[in-house]
Amino acid sequence: MNNVKLSERLRLVLEQVPPGSRLADIGSDHALLPIAAIETGRAVAAVAGEVNPGPYEAARKGVAEAGLSARIAVRRGDGLEVLAPGEADCITIAGMGGALIAAILERGQSLGLLDGVKTLALQPNVGEDILRRWLVKSGWVLTSEQILEEDGKIYEILTAVREDTEAGLTNEQLYSDLAVGGGALMLSKAMLLEMGPWLLRAPNQAFMDKWQGEIAKLEGILKSLSRSELASAEAKRNQISEQIRTITEVLECLPKDKL
Ligand code: SAM
Repeated sequence: MNNVKLSERLRLVLEQVPPGSRLADIGSDHALLPIAAIETGRAVAAVAGEVNPGPYEAARKGVAEAGLSARIAVRRGDGLEVLAPGEADCITIAGMGGALIAAILERGQSLGLLDGVKTLALQPNVGEDILRRWLVKSGWVLTSEQILEEDGKIYEILTAVREDTEAGLTNEQLYSDLAVGGGALMLSKAMLLEMGPWLLRAPNQAFMDKWQGEIAKLEGILKSLSRSELASAEAKRNQISEQIRTITEVLECLPKDKL
């Protein structure tokens, strides 16, 4: 038991799974997360979903080697379509782009496959803002956000529940203007969607590193645009300069006590 060694990223995703869950891990690859969820007793049953043949075989092999074929169903299919309605109450999707995760959830929701699901624990590699927008639009509210740095990469983990049930918190509250820097700066809903409403309330070093990195990327784009005389380049330069100014201002106003 407890054989699977998880990365810190997947360990944090696992921590978001409520104890006793019937888990579905979509895009499971080697099925490390469902194996650990069953081995640690966090999940009572699990489905590992994979769309691609190689990772599907890796998941089957991993589950068989862990001796858990009776507890973890490994299924091949697109997104939530591997599930029967009501089969899972917690869904994890990790290691894909935010747009793909949102598309998987959207399709699953339209097919009724999110019915009965209480918790979503999502780890987008990029496009976190796209996922936050999908959650708001679809009636889910974030209960926590984590950010961590591992092997030189920065990852965010977004955990959501249905807005009208468990949360005791609405998206209207979560995304209402947030004052930082002792009231010196008001963060708009757009900024909260971009950077993360919980992350902005308790920024850590990984959060600061991520956004310093974004500033550096934007400065690189600005530099390459500076060679162009086109009017459209001028408009783009202004837009990027404004983005850099806004992010810098936000970082300067955030509490630094947890760094
Ligand atoms: N979840 C694991 C993790 O975080 O370490 C594996 C991440 S891996 C980078 C992404 C996996 O998602 C791949 O194995 C890929 O085959 C799978 N995938 C991509 N699109 C999918 C979809 N629509 N449905 C199911 N699996 C999908």
